[in-house]
Amino acid sequence: MLYNLYKLVQTKRRDFPVPAHLFTLCCYPMPNETTHLPPQDARAAMAQLDRELNRLQRAIRLAIQAQLETMSGCSLGSLEQNRNLTESIHQLLESHGLRVRCNECGHPAILRVSPRGSSHGVFVFDHTIDGHRTFHGGKSSLPLIRLVAKPPRKKKSKGRAAG
Ligand SMILES: [Zn+2]
Repeated sequence: MLYNLYKLVQTKRRDFPVPAHLFTLCCYPMPNETTHLPPQDARAAMAQLDRELNRLQRAIRLAIQAQLETMSGCSLGSLEQNRNLTESIHQLLESHGLRVRCNECGHPAILRVSPRGSSHGVFVFDHTIDGHRTFHGGKSSLPLIRLVAKPPRKKKSKGRAAG
């Protein structure tokens, strides 16, 4: 891990500014010299990096949520277009390790458009509750979306395929 951090600093330092604490910690002034790094300093640096990444991830989540909020209550006017919208929302959330939170039960869910109801389809929260695939919601317009972290993948149980 620390070696990777070292390599990261090595490769990125010419391209864009790396936070000063990483420089002083790792490889200054001679890149090829082995520098003694006290373990507690390495831990502190990794903890600081972790906090920084958490802060960035939170900012990303809030930015996505704010954008989706502006579309709540809307329908794109056709089943196909509404499905394209939920698919692109899902791709975006997947790439950031996020899910929508079901506004009925609070479980992490995937937003989908089901053809039942109106001809434009209805927006449903697709999730697994107590091992059963369950759909909640059913409004004809995009619901107000809250985001949560994607839950860790469950181990496959014997005799039942995942998904
Ligand atoms: Zn639910």
